Amino acid sequence: MFAPYRLAQRRSQETSVVRVGQARFGDGSFVLVGGPCAIEGAAQIDAAARAVAAAGAPLLRGGAYKPRTSPYDFQGLGDDGLPLIADAGAAHGIGIVVEALAESHVQLVAAYADMIQIGARNMQNVPLLRAAARTGRPVLLKRGPAATLDELLLAAEYVLVEGNANVVLCERGIRGFDTHTRNVADLGGALRLKELTHLPVILDPSHATGRPTLIEPLTLAAAAAGLDGAIVEMHPEPQHARCDAAQAIDPATFARIASRVRLVRTALAQDDLAVTG
Ligand code: PEP
Ligand code: MN
Repeated sequence: MFAPYRLAQRRSQETSVVRVGQARFGDGSFVLVGGPCAIEGAAQIDAAARAVAAAGAPLLRGGAYKPRTSPYDFQGLGDDGLPLIADAGAAHGIGIVVEALAESHVQLVAAYADMIQIGARNMQNVPLLRAAARTGRPVLLKRGPAATLDELLLAAEYVLVEGNANVVLCERGIRGFDTHTRNVADLGGALRLKELTHLPVILDPSHATGRPTLIEPLTLAAAAAGLDGAIVEMHPEPQHARCDAAQAIDPATFARIASRVRLVRTALAQDDLAVTG
């Protein structure tokens, strides 16, 4: 049986492994990515990188070009942010993930970042998908807020047909009708994706909920459910974040999440041993 997404389609039990720096998405580990919504300056991104590394997480996130809903909000540092996050990642021995918001950013983002993020608003921006794919860098593809799983998989297919096999999918919440969470975290959809595709699938609990109190339980749920990781907005001083302050967690909470993910994984591994051993 052939799905329209020929290359993304799952054909065996194996999940494809996508290597980014020290991280291995899809190898059975749970890859935790942390960092601010936006790169704001050298000291801020260095403090974030320090906190990510201290928690034992392998990847730092930070936006240089921000797709803000309002043109009057902080739009990111632009090109100037890239060397700052690259230096912070290098100083703390972790890889970096940066969004390319437009085709014109792709070359520069690829020159600095270990992984290129394609944001939710751009999931079906075909020229951007093709351009990101052609850099050869791994691509983190976020689900559009109103995209079906098939549409997400076909968007991933645009990267795969360019010969770039390194795609990680990200559920970041879809548009719902209730206002108590920013979006609806479609955990069931993310798990269904794992059945449909061999590509690794991670969760972004930050944009999915918009609420710092929900980040830990949802990340633990993702780890327990067998997703391949989570990308979390963490700011050294959340109350001063210039972008998405309302959903940012602090470094102590991030460290706690990292250690509790390990507890969940250990508990499940022991249960496996108990059943098979
Ligand atoms: C982000 O990760 O910074 C972001 C803007 O997310 P999304 O594209 O999911 O809204
Ligand atoms: Mn954000």
